[in-house]
Amino acid sequence: MMQVPFLDLGAAYRALQPEIETALLQAARSGVYIGGGALQDFEQAFAAYSGSLHCVGTGNGLDALRLALMALDVGPGDEVIVPSNTFIATWLAVTQCGATLVPVEPDPSSHLITVDAIAAAITPRTRVILPVHLYGQPVDIDAITTLAREHGIRTIADAAQAHGARFDGQPIGGAFDLCTWSFYPSKNLGALGDGGAVTTNDPALAERVRLLGNYGSREKYRFEQAGINSRLDPLQAAILSVKLPWLDAWNARRQSIAARYQAALADSDWQLPQVSPRVSPVWHLFVVRHPQRERMQQALRERGINTMIHYPIPPHLQAAYQGQWPTDAFPVARQLASDILSLPIGPQLSDAHLNFVIDTLQTL
Ligand SMILES: *Cc1c(COP(=O)(O)O)cnc(C)c1O
Repeated sequence: MMQVPFLDLGAAYRALQPEIETALLQAARSGVYIGGGALQDFEQAFAAYSGSLHCVGTGNGLDALRLALMALDVGPGDEVIVPSNTFIATWLAVTQCGATLVPVEPDPSSHLITVDAIAAAITPRTRVILPVHLYGQPVDIDAITTLAREHGIRTIADAAQAHGARFDGQPIGGAFDLCTWSFYPSKNLGALGDGGAVTTNDPALAERVRLLGNYGSREKYRFEQAGINSRLDPLQAAILSVKLPWLDAWNARRQSIAARYQAALADSDWQLPQVSPRVSPVWHLFVVRHPQRERMQQALRERGINTMIHYPIPPHLQAAYQGQWPTDAFPVARQLASDILSLPIGPQLSDAHLNFVIDTLQTL
């Protein structure tokens, strides 16, 4: 029986195997294992690619979020607005800074938080608005930056799922005060291990992120701040530099797969993600909804098609946040968790597999 993987990271590696292995050997033989030219080269290339002036590599996407919040001096007593439906890292970063989470519900048709929901959650204690460009679709950057400016509030975007996405035709890496990225292997731009970055147009914020991620130190053995150790390895940076020139083509393949799903499922029981005409999403995930999600996922599995759920339990219902919100809080996030399904998508998904998934979906 045909087996359609949800995502084939082995195939992604083989697509660039000689180039990646050359870069790996070079990095291993370079004698430079923290910082150095390979890291600088990637940071410069990714800043330019993401439409920002500065990029600072970090150890992972969670640390990129923590460092962005630390750079803005967010701490106890500060409120940070986050989506009620996101990967838990967005929430953990806020918690780990000692600040207060203020989750807002998404628009269920786009899965994104809207400026109206954010505006309703603002209080005198709001320090940061932290939206997520979830599944690769940018939030309304224009409306949110305007709202934040009116209230004197800072903005951080969690772009861990949105490398290459555009808003009004522009890349998104310089749009908010800070923008955070993850290079976790399955992301649109993925390393062979953990990695992350913060991008910004503000040189002072970039400097602070770099300082705080390097033990609070600029000069060896002098510590200006109580920082953390979270840097992007030059080995991972070298791999990411090999992959970056291919990212637009990979995202274009994701977009053409998404277009096939959209056309095939237009008049069906599947509810498709609504996309703003102002954005160009990069479809980190293609998330559809179905009232009989469990039955559908099982039927697809029986036919060899592997799907996933992003995410099956909203953050406020996780044991990590037990007792902090009533279980009936955030009904939109709970509803989405119960009916969403992520279909196979990725640059290496073949036409044969895609056709099979679409034929199967249409006959279920
Ligand atoms: C992957 C991800 C993160 C965390 O990235 P890591 O590199 O795994 O720490 C944060 N936010 C979102 C939305 C993500 O998808």
